[in-house]
Amino acid sequence: MRRDDKWILRIKELEAENKLLTEEIERIKDSMSWTESKALDRVYELETENKKIREDHSMLLARFDADAMLISNLAAKNKRLEAWIDDLQSEMYINCVYCGHRYGPNKGDHLVTMRKTLEKHIEECPKHPLSMARNRIMELEAENRWLREQYNSLIFEVSYKFPGESRHDTAKRYIREREEYGIEIGTKQALGEASDE
Ligand SMILES: [Zn+2]
Repeated sequence: MRRDDKWILRIKELEAENKLLTEEIERIKDSMSWTESKALDRVYELETENKKIREDHSMLLARFDADAMLISNLAAKNKRLEAWIDDLQSEMYINCVYCGHRYGPNKGDHLVTMRKTLEKHIEECPKHPLSMARNRIMELEAENRWLREQYNSLIFEVSYKFPGESRHDTAKRYIREREEYGIEIGTKQALGEASDE
């Protein structure tokens, strides 16, 4: 037998085996119940879906890494620019635009930058809108405290509040009743005087 013939024979053998196996698969498929073949379809569907999710996930991870890289690059750049500002300002006089206070230059003092000095000045500057706002807040807080004390001392004159009424309501009612009583007395007196005449 020639070598080529041997190969041809082998190919034929394999083809026959392949045909048998394909037939076997078809038979198995035919013998499967409807539920089984549905289950098989579902497995295939899930595998496809799973693969897609995996791909999306790795794409998102890659994008996330890229964003994180971008953020850290920007933060580094920001830090360099801030150092640059501090260097540029280090040999300058700077004036407060609100009160004119002058400070600087901070040569050689790298711990206290001009911007930090400015920040500190703003807290104390009598003309800076922020410190003015802060002072006004403190004034209003003090006034608020005082009013609250006045109010509390008034409503705590009520030794016990009535059911269904707040202490505030009870206090208001007492005052109203007292005022009305006073008016009534006044009216009676006025009427009495009139009848005496
Ligand atoms: Zn100032």
